[in-house]
Amino acid sequence: MSEPAATRTLKRKLGSCVDTGAEARHAASFDGSKLAWTPDAVIQPRSEEDVATVLRHANRHRVPVTTRGAGSSLTGSASPVRGGWVLDLSGWRKLRVDRAAGMAYVQSGVRTGELQRAAARRGWFYPPDPSSKEFGTLGGNIACNAGGMRGGKYGVTRDYVLALRGVLPTGEIVSWSRDLRKYAAGYNMRDLWIGSEGTLGVITEAVLRLIPLPASRWTVLASFANETLALRTVKAILSARLIPSILEFLDRESVACAESATGESVFPGQAGRPVLLMELDGHPAAVRDERRRLLEIVQPRALAVREASDEKETEALWEVRRKCSGAMFELGDSKLNEDVVVPLRSQVKLMTFIRRLSRETGVPIATFGHAADGNFHVNIMYRRDDRDISTRALRALRALMRKVIELGGAISGEHGIGLAKTPFLTLEHGRAEIAAMRAVKQALDPNNILNPGKIFDVTEVWKKRPLKVRLPWDHK
Ligand SMILES: Cc1cc2nc3c(=O)[nH]c(=O)nc-3n(C[C@H](O)[C@H](O)[C@H](O)COP(=O)(O)OP(=O)(O)OC[C@H]3O[C@@H](n4cnc5c(N)ncnc54)[C@H](O)[C@@H]3O)c2cc1C
Repeated sequence: MSEPAATRTLKRKLGSCVDTGAEARHAASFDGSKLAWTPDAVIQPRSEEDVATVLRHANRHRVPVTTRGAGSSLTGSASPVRGGWVLDLSGWRKLRVDRAAGMAYVQSGVRTGELQRAAARRGWFYPPDPSSKEFGTLGGNIACNAGGMRGGKYGVTRDYVLALRGVLPTGEIVSWSRDLRKYAAGYNMRDLWIGSEGTLGVITEAVLRLIPLPASRWTVLASFANETLALRTVKAILSARLIPSILEFLDRESVACAESATGESVFPGQAGRPVLLMELDGHPAAVRDERRRLLEIVQPRALAVREASDEKETEALWEVRRKCSGAMFELGDSKLNEDVVVPLRSQVKLMTFIRRLSRETGVPIATFGHAADGNFHVNIMYRRDDRDISTRALRALRALMRKVIELGGAISGEHGIGLAKTPFLTLEHGRAEIAAMRAVKQALDPNNILNPGKIFDVTEVWKKRPLKVRLPWDHK
């Protein structure tokens, strides 16, 4: 197929950083969601000026541009659904930690884990901890407002972004805020970019806030007779004003999958019981005191409790959490991987609903997540080539989303909307709210060239989705 004229012009301007080879285009055609559309070219810009040139040309020729970090999005937000150009910033990896100021200066392609290690070597801590930290980029984290396990105590990516630099969809280079701990000059465009999934601008650099590295940590795993007891224990812990740095909940399906993958029970004689994995961190004296208070709450409610006495034991306790997500594929070859959030008061109601939903639809559902902030990964498992179970899985998904809203929750806590959750945005936001969001998009990106088709548009994804079924809401 001949190369589009706009791509030929861009190649003449930018030279070898514009790659139209089949391999590069294929590699940039999908993200962690596996939803794929092949772009015309992949651009690895060498400078901000290159980024600006790409966006100016894209505007002139109305070419869609999708910015990409590591492409680990689970919602299709990095998949170039309208083709066009992919702007790949994964190679932008400059990183500097200012030890005195407790700030990190990063380019957008720096991996989250890389920053955490660089900060730790200087006694500082960057708490946001998505499980994808070894490959996901900070640009992607900021664009998705990534979370992770430490949200309940330390917050999410947004809470650590002091300043952003980047390029507007129309090609102007801009800075939002500075390397200051306070800033109140004008509209807070920095926060508008955070979580906007690459639809409002291209982030090239960020200044991130660091906090002192906690001196010690302590880990404990507890199993419970059922999910309700486990989640009531969460409530008891939080109401005692104890905020563990990690408070992970795994339901019985998640535990059973992990146990079957490792071939060992988490607690001998207690196979397939829901668990809480908890970690306290801070000054050793504070951790000792909190450990005592936490055990006073957990022990009477749990069936069994296992404390880690050293690093090796800590690693062993983490095994069940690390293994559970991959191990779920024994329940089906595909998953609808949700990241809903509900208020503390609704956690038990959500789990009760999920168990009933799984029973009534006959679809396996395994749930685990970050109980301290109510962000649960609900994994609806199905077989791609089984039309019947795929349809039931989609029905279960829609029912789940409705329930989450009814319970005062949100359809996404950390993965964002991308393509996969567009059908549900209107459950959460009314007409005026969506119109306000669209007005912002229109003002900043009048030709809709930057990551078009994301967040608001329901159509493409569901035609392409690996589930080859019509959606229940399509035939209403
Ligand atoms: C195994 C696995 C585990 C995961 N665990 C977690 C988790 O615990 N918590 C969590 O929150 N997420 C998690 N994720 C999801 C994903 O890793 C995060 O959303 C991450 O922030 C994406 O980073 P990325 O570099 O891969 O971005 P990409 O997938 O490349 O892009 C994601 C979005 O950000 C935009 N974007 C990327 N870079 C820029 C930039 N420089 N400027 C503007 N927009 C940009 C893209 O256009 C796209 O909309 C997980 C994913 C996987 C595969």
